[in-house]
Amino acid sequence: MSTSDQASYEDVLMAAHTLRNVVLRTPVLSSRSLNEQYDAQFFFKCENFQRIGAFKFRGGFNALAQLSDEQRKAGVLAYSSGNHAQAVALAARLLGVQATIVMNSDAPAAKKQATLAYGAEVVEYDRLRQDRMQIANQLVAERGLTLIPPFGHKHVLAGQGTAAKELFEEVPDLDELYVPLGGGGLLSGCLLAASSLQPACKVYGVEPEAANDAQQSLRQGHIVQIAPPSSIADGALTVSLAPITFDIIRQYVHAILTVSDEQLLERQRFFLERMKMLVEPTGCLGAAAAIAQPERKGKRIGVLISGGNIDLHTLASYISGPLGAR
Ligand SMILES: *Cc1c(COP(=O)(O)O)cnc(C)c1O
Repeated sequence: MSTSDQASYEDVLMAAHTLRNVVLRTPVLSSRSLNEQYDAQFFFKCENFQRIGAFKFRGGFNALAQLSDEQRKAGVLAYSSGNHAQAVALAARLLGVQATIVMNSDAPAAKKQATLAYGAEVVEYDRLRQDRMQIANQLVAERGLTLIPPFGHKHVLAGQGTAAKELFEEVPDLDELYVPLGGGGLLSGCLLAASSLQPACKVYGVEPEAANDAQQSLRQGHIVQIAPPSSIADGALTVSLAPITFDIIRQYVHAILTVSDEQLLERQRFFLERMKMLVEPTGCLGAAAAIAQPERKGKRIGVLISGGNIDLHTLASYISGPLGAR
């Protein structure tokens, strides 16, 4: 299985077939008051309601489903403290594969518990003193595991693209689509879906202001790596795109936008208060940018809500803290 060969819409189609009986077809929701306020139509594709609480289950399952019998027998490895870990752990359990997850020892206890509950083995490391890549590579070599990367992988990004495929099939004639952007697996999958299903739709990738490596990469024409950024959008703190996601994004994206942590919290409050749903800060990236765009009048605007996993203590501090109080 190669991770760097070209991906196309065919791969998204095959992923949709692989995933047809395992992923949830998440709802597309809208808000009448929001549409009236901005004189536009917003369509929210709610992957916060996907299994494991984020779209990552799509790519994780699709990647594991492609493995040979031998690879399945040997097991898989992922390094992540976030949604990718849970995605790989659940996919592995469903396919009868042993998963090893390399996780920083200070990861939230709830995330570690969830990963263990799916039957994965958790290998902890000290984020400040140890290099997780080195630990991962050593385990891969020692145990013959297959590494499942979080975004730079054809079958991962093709799986993520099935979320946009569902949206495009359900909602015709979108003018724009706004997609959260970290390492670019979700965005590149969505771009492949758009290029085939609604080529007139302008697709935007949205990063946290503090983690705008993709925006810089597009401007400079090569992959730019940034220092580890800090933002409440913890699912989009990657330091660079992968070659395979950069190539697709460069080819198809309309533009890359950024939003501030304040804008994310404002959207999170809106989703809670007005739409009665919990979205993690990273999941609000697309919505925050869509609302901030100056020209919305009369448009049909798709927004990908990527996930809803957030520790309740953290949520409480956001709602009552200085950023949330308004
Ligand atoms: C991983 C993740 C992202 C970013 O996805 P990439 O494929 O890395 O760009 C966005 N939102 C949530 C909730 C995530 O878990």
